[in-house]
Amino acid sequence: MKYDVIIIGAGPGGIFAAYELMKKQEYKIAVFEEGYTLKKRKCPIDGDKIKNCINCKHCSIMCGFGGAGAFSDGKYNIINDFGGTLYEYIGKQKAVDLMKYVDEINMENGGEGTKLYSTAGTKFKKLCLQNKLKLLDASVRHLGTDINYVVLQNLYDQMKDHIDFYFDTPVDTVQVIDGGYRIICDKGEFDCEKCIVSVGRSGSKWMEKVCKELEIPTKSNRVDIGVRVELPAVIFSHLTDELYESKIVYRTEKFEDNVRTFCMNPNGIVVNENTNGIITVNGHSYEGDEKKTENTNFALLVSKHFSEPFKDSNGYGESIARLSNMLGGGVIVQRFGDLVRGRRSTVKRIEEGLVTPTLTATPGDLSLVLPKRILDGIMEMIYALDKVAPGTANDDTLLYGVEVKFYNMEVELDENLESCHKGLYVIGDGSGVTHSLSHASASGIYVARHILGE
Ligand SMILES: Cc1cc2nc3c(=O)[nH]c(=O)nc-3n(C[C@H](O)[C@H](O)[C@H](O)COP(=O)(O)OP(=O)(O)OC[C@H]3O[C@@H](n4cnc5c(N)ncnc54)[C@H](O)[C@@H]3O)c2cc1C
Repeated sequence: MKYDVIIIGAGPGGIFAAYELMKKQEYKIAVFEEGYTLKKRKCPIDGDKIKNCINCKHCSIMCGFGGAGAFSDGKYNIINDFGGTLYEYIGKQKAVDLMKYVDEINMENGGEGTKLYSTAGTKFKKLCLQNKLKLLDASVRHLGTDINYVVLQNLYDQMKDHIDFYFDTPVDTVQVIDGGYRIICDKGEFDCEKCIVSVGRSGSKWMEKVCKELEIPTKSNRVDIGVRVELPAVIFSHLTDELYESKIVYRTEKFEDNVRTFCMNPNGIVVNENTNGIITVNGHSYEGDEKKTENTNFALLVSKHFSEPFKDSNGYGESIARLSNMLGGGVIVQRFGDLVRGRRSTVKRIEEGLVTPTLTATPGDLSLVLPKRILDGIMEMIYALDKVAPGTANDDTLLYGVEVKFYNMEVELDENLESCHKGLYVIGDGSGVTHSLSHASASGIYVARHILGE
């Protein structure tokens, strides 16, 4: 079978590339996706019976139509300052314009009525600076997990009759052939003129293999390690009501490391995340009132980037996550008060606390898992945040560990996001260039327009 364009991966990068390419009706387009359709995606832990990850063939949280973003909080940050370095390839204005275009598509497909929050003119910038914290400028659309799902389903419904979707079909090999590329998977061999690889974080190992086989140069990337904080929503409500998510950076006194807040979920829930069989923690929240909880959660992260002689930043993050999995059988939860007192949390201490956990995790001791430097930085930041959101450093504040943000190695790409093989594009989180919904989606539109000659 021969296509004009084959897209590998149906996460936001792949979806928006396909959606934009659909403009050219005579194009024959196929999307190959390791996971299932949105409707078939189901994590067994979501039910009552199974409590721990059972390592399904394809992790439904990370794989399938919508990619890692399908059950995410659907926070589309329209900003160059975080979420990736797409602007380094395509320019700052272009990147923001594409993120706005993605927002328009989301609004036309079920997102209308959701709120766009902004830090412009907020009084919290001053309050943060007065307390050695920096509030980053941001503009964020919060779709929420529920509306995000509706938007994705609408996009799929529009594409399914024009584009060949192959679900439950991981691509094994990409070969360079005369006039294009050959994709090999268990459904056979498929040829195309142009190929867009958008395999996200779950496809990181596969991406490495492809880069080796096709001799595409790569560079190591950073890893972010930390914890997810959960506390009563009222403690942060003055910030979250106005900004929804505040991206705050703190420079530690002890080591002069940067610790930052990440992925804030007002009235949200804490969840497990499975990356290549390693269980870490994450969070999200729903837009609809009926699913809101009384807690807010956010991550506190420290970046580490190794270069010489050790280069494997992800491997470092993985081994810390494995340690927490070994001690806790998955994610560990600890009260801040227990951490400060140098003792593990127990089921009883957590039950007696004022914060009811939204994730069932193993009570334990995060100081046995996280490196001292990282943990000291996180504790310093909790005390700094306590000054702008009093109550953050309460004994009953819950810390879940570990949260790790793995970034794919950076694939060497030109200003068109094209690899050293012409017509082979690498986009989204799989390229190491993006690590957010808006940047990944924008990279898809950008490459589609390049292919369309726009
Ligand atoms: C729980 C959670 C919450 C998040 N919340 C937010 C948020 O609120 N805001 C935000 O900006 N970001 C969020 N993120 C990150 C965001 O989801 C990602 O940055 C985004 O999904 C990246 O898009 P992508 O298309 O590059 O990759 P992905 O979404 O990872 O999609 C890649 C797809 O490729 C498929 N694939 C992999 N290998 C192969 C192969 N060999 N053959 C075929 N298919 C393959 C995978 O199955 C997957 O479906 C969250 C992530 C998680 C896990």
